[in-house]
Amino acid sequence: MRSISIFGATGSIGQNTVDLIARAPDEYRVVALTGAGNIERLAADAIRLRAEIAVTADETRLGDLRAALAGTGIEAAAGEGALVEVADRPADWIMSAIVGAAGLAPGFRALRHGTTLALANKESLVTAGPLLMQEARDHGATILPVDSEHSAVFQALVGEDMGAVERIIITASGGGLRDWPLEALAKATVADAGAHPNWAMGQRITIDSASMFNKGMELIETKEFFGIAPDRIETVIHPQSIVHALVGFVDGALMAHLGAPDMRHAIGYALHWPDRRDLPVSRIDLAQVATLEFRAPDPARYPALALARAVMETGGRSGAVFNAAKEIALDGFIGGRIGFMQMAEVVDRTLDAISPRLCLSSSMSSLEDVLETDHMARDTATAQIAQMEKS
Ligand code: NAD
Ligand code: MG
Repeated sequence: MRSISIFGATGSIGQNTVDLIARAPDEYRVVALTGAGNIERLAADAIRLRAEIAVTADETRLGDLRAALAGTGIEAAAGEGALVEVADRPADWIMSAIVGAAGLAPGFRALRHGTTLALANKESLVTAGPLLMQEARDHGATILPVDSEHSAVFQALVGEDMGAVERIIITASGGGLRDWPLEALAKATVADAGAHPNWAMGQRITIDSASMFNKGMELIETKEFFGIAPDRIETVIHPQSIVHALVGFVDGALMAHLGAPDMRHAIGYALHWPDRRDLPVSRIDLAQVATLEFRAPDPARYPALALARAVMETGGRSGAVFNAAKEIALDGFIGGRIGFMQMAEVVDRTLDAISPRLCLSSSMSSLEDVLETDHMARDTATAQIAQMEKS
């Protein structure tokens, strides 16, 4: 029996993981499930999967969690510290699917125990890629990509030598506003940006898809995970979301990965790796799909891409600043303080404003370093939003 934990079990990725595990309960021993505000879901899944412990990020809800688990023998814990401590409980396979920078510390801690970490939390690679990859190497741990594009690249690389790779192309749906006139984007609402044409995902990542901040994050992830130079990473708009990524080799061949837009594919691949197992995802009928479209992203529509490219070139602390500023800008947009197109402006201004105080290209030596940079960038981004509101 394999032991597994799911960090961020109540979210979109977490629930898809729970779904796969619940289909084969005899094959897995569930150690820990974690969540935040959705105590009912967390407790119900902990009971259903017979988990050892359930942890909520929200300390004020510990009583509720205890009450929901009363009589089941399942332990309950709460708080940021508990989310990291639970990563010390041995598990063969751990899903890292907390959203945002909060997902970094628990996943990082799990690597110390040589586990296999299925990494959905893209912020980990964007903010602390070199540290994370080094920690895995130091402890003989394995990181498997769960972001669909990176899982696709990973699969296209099976049996290949990185020396033969010329380029990596990740596709982008273009998000919910891709066909809007450029001038209308400034007025897009949270509801407009929060509707995705192909994927069912959490609200934050769906808005990040519309702005292509998500793709920007994924460019950085690609650089960090596969160790490939920024100028060899491309992105192309592919409205159907059927081709998830392509790898170009030195002989000109392109290996593409195609699959239904269902995250259970990438999660299932990471769960069963290096094997392939039957997965409950729909099969593609190419004749019905008929055409696969591709087009270049318009830089004016998606300023996040150029910002991400600058971050890839700079490296060091700039990824942590980019991510933190993006999170604050997203909060600002969701909270109605700034417009849709102003999110990129906040990130751009934050990178500029912070650079006299912080050497963006210098590398980070510890998780504390990352968190310090993250806090500084959040404060700077918050100040930028306040300034923009005044003007
Ligand atoms: P989500 O918002 O649906 O779920 C997030 C999970 O994190 C929930 O379990 C929530 O309780 C928990 N959480 C929220 N705030 C927390 C905090 N401060 N501390 C601890 N836990 C907290 O998000 P999601 O869409 O499942 O995405 C999870 C991660 O996977 C993100 O990093 C996202 O970018 C990445 N990802 C998601 C998809 C997708 O299809 N949803 C695809 C690729 C990558
Ligand atoms: Mg993705």
